[in-house]
Amino acid sequence: MHIRLLVASSLLFISSMSVSQVWCDMPAIEHSKEDSMRYDEFLDKVRQHELHPVIKTRSEICYQVVVHIVVRQSATFISNAQVIHQIDVLNNDFAGKGANISKLEKEFEPLISDTGIRFRLASIDPDGKPTDGITYTFTNRQNIALLVDPQSSRRAIHFNELGGKTGWDPERYINIWVGEYGSFLGSAFFPGMAPYPEEIGVVIDPRSFGSLGDAAFHPFYKGGHTLTHEMGHFFGLIHIWGGPSEHDCNDSDEVDDTPNQEGPYFDCPSGIQMSCGVSNMYQDFMDLTDDRCLAAFTSGQSARMHASIDAFYPDLGSEGSCQEIVQPFDTWYDKLIWANDRYSGQYVLYHPDGYAGKINLEVFSVDGRLVLKDTWEGSQTYLLNLNPYASGIFFVRLSDGIQDKVRKVVTFQ
Ligand SMILES: [Zn+2]
Repeated sequence: MHIRLLVASSLLFISSMSVSQVWCDMPAIEHSKEDSMRYDEFLDKVRQHELHPVIKTRSEICYQVVVHIVVRQSATFISNAQVIHQIDVLNNDFAGKGANISKLEKEFEPLISDTGIRFRLASIDPDGKPTDGITYTFTNRQNIALLVDPQSSRRAIHFNELGGKTGWDPERYINIWVGEYGSFLGSAFFPGMAPYPEEIGVVIDPRSFGSLGDAAFHPFYKGGHTLTHEMGHFFGLIHIWGGPSEHDCNDSDEVDDTPNQEGPYFDCPSGIQMSCGVSNMYQDFMDLTDDRCLAAFTSGQSARMHASIDAFYPDLGSEGSCQEIVQPFDTWYDKLIWANDRYSGQYVLYHPDGYAGKINLEVFSVDGRLVLKDTWEGSQTYLLNLNPYASGIFFVRLSDGIQDKVRKVVTFQ
């Protein structure tokens, strides 16, 4: 305990805290020769795999993720429903079906990619025990994602003994930490660049994590796409305008189909925006526009992510869908998770294993009136929004057309 306090009290803020703009904290690769060498090694290795791709016929690859919420008691609490919904946003973005896909400038529509990369919250923890894939840790350290231990340069959020949360085995899970991050939205180490294996993964500030209720409360970054952007870095993508520090037309993101771009775009421009003599794809997930703007990854970016997977994470994911397609209906229903977000009064129905058929969903008021009728098909998550109706007690009936199950839900508004 003495050592822990001693170390904890001498934690320092990392120097980049002086950056005032809210954006992605790409690892400080220009800060030291060693980092710069590691960055060059990362680039070389991905290039080699792009030149000599591992021939695989995978249509989908599934990654187990664990979300570590590391917040102060006084900070906004993030509910399981908000986490589940965030993973849904992430999956849609990587499938080329993100919320803004219809807003993409017409000329870039042919580039839209379903990357085949999918995510599911882990259902088994490192000890083999069942889990919902979410951990909660209360810390007393403000802006824990900015703190580093001066002796070891370890980042506090990734270690129990520094007031954070030690992640799960990075060779089996993708660790996502949610913690206060000063003026940053999030960060991720490029493949192979984390100084410690415990630091492999993604860090997101609570202001930009999720999109349900008040999960993300930053006005411009509440669509859940910060995680998509950082996961892009995790899978080896560089910002769309190219190198880490230079803003010019001579560097590249090393992706063939993304237009050359001088520097980042912010806010949410519209129409054609030019630099380097070409129209720029400012709605790409690897630009820095607002969440209402970010729409797609390109096929070239998808190919680069798969090259990075072959080079750095060959055994992290499992080939095939994240949905195991559980049947019959009553077996499926027993594992259904009803996650309530009490801030927004919404439920997220979540089944980690998916379902092969179509679920009919009906909601009745306490006096027996049918207030909502819908179907749920082809997704692990259903967002049950009872906000339009008065608060109170409802009965939700789920049916596969033969059997049905009824559950009482209560909303407070
Ligand atoms: Zn970034």
